Amino acid sequence: MVLNSEKEVRCPLFGLIMEKDNQKIYDVAIVGGGPAGMSAAIYTGRAHLDTCLIEALSTGGQMFNTSTIENYPGFQTVNGPELSSKMEAQVRHWGIEPVYGEIVNLGQGKEQFTLTDSVGNEWHARTVIAATGSKPRKLEIPGETELTGSGVSYCATCDGAFFKGKEVVVVGGGDSAIEESLYLARIVKQVTVVHRRDSLRATMDLQKRAFAEPNIKFIWDASVEAILGDMTVDGLRVRNIKDESVSVVPAAGVFIYIGNIPNTEFLQGLAALDETGYVIAGEDTVTNVPGLFAAGDIRTKGLRQIVTALGDGAVAAMAAERYLASLGL
Ligand code: NAP
Repeated sequence: MVLNSEKEVRCPLFGLIMEKDNQKIYDVAIVGGGPAGMSAAIYTGRAHLDTCLIEALSTGGQMFNTSTIENYPGFQTVNGPELSSKMEAQVRHWGIEPVYGEIVNLGQGKEQFTLTDSVGNEWHARTVIAATGSKPRKLEIPGETELTGSGVSYCATCDGAFFKGKEVVVVGGGDSAIEESLYLARIVKQVTVVHRRDSLRATMDLQKRAFAEPNIKFIWDASVEAILGDMTVDGLRVRNIKDESVSVVPAAGVFIYIGNIPNTEFLQGLAALDETGYVIAGEDTVTNVPGLFAAGDIRTKGLRQIVTALGDGAVAAMAAERYLASLGL
């Protein structure tokens, strides 16, 4: 490591590069503790890069909210919280303690970035791996916000048990909607999947299992217009988009799985984003900003899976290491 003599000193105790005001400058800041961020941390930890891993809520990201994972090699099935905690333990094993903060701004200075969280804490780093994933898309219909937490949910693993023996609706037709319907079918009395088309987007294996499950029924070509209920959900108003007929579907809970929105607000104005908000970066995770890498679900990519996010994390970590070497650091 060389010093920028104007602004930096080497900490006598630990040999770390600090700004003269004792502001530490990390080699790598990883934003997001999902699969991509944790994979990156394992690689930067093993490479002895001074790393901070900043997570907004809890490590695991969307993986944490997944009931059953069946396509993670080495495990026939594993649940999301278990896999998340195993990955976090591995991150800690390499000396990286996740810290908590919601990064709201990323500023770029000369050969360093400043990351600021929602309460004004700052971190400084030579490189940044953005791995903030995505959040559930909302239906944005009457009743959704008002009844969130009172019957409206975006996480079957978290909330499914509240609906034991009751009727619930799952909205959506992708892998998440069908996978979580299968999970809920084991707990609740009846799952009704409401989908806007007459065929599912989910993989064929999931489709076959859902069609064979007596506890799951489907309402096709239907758009949900409102979620009904005063204090808690008691049903949904649904419109058939072919014949325009309107009906009320009774339900004590509604699980919404209609895709995701990338968590890239903190990159706006700095990184190039596509029209849907994903960071424009290829398989090399390199963005338009030197020293900034994008890994996992937040980047433009064809397949968003835990295994592809893990691969991105590894690639981004190595890219960051090469970038630091190119700076002579
Ligand atoms: P997704 O694949 O984008 O599917 C979203 C579903 O919601 C689609 O069926 C879509 O309908 C419907 N939808 C979208 N907007 C809607 C709206 N405004 N109103 C009503 N319905 C709407 O999302 P996902 O299922 O969350 O999956 C996200 C990614 O994670 C995918 O790449 C998926 O393969 C992956 N994933 C993988 C696994 C696994 O491998 N085990 C599990 C979960 C997720 P249309 O079909 O008509 O577009």
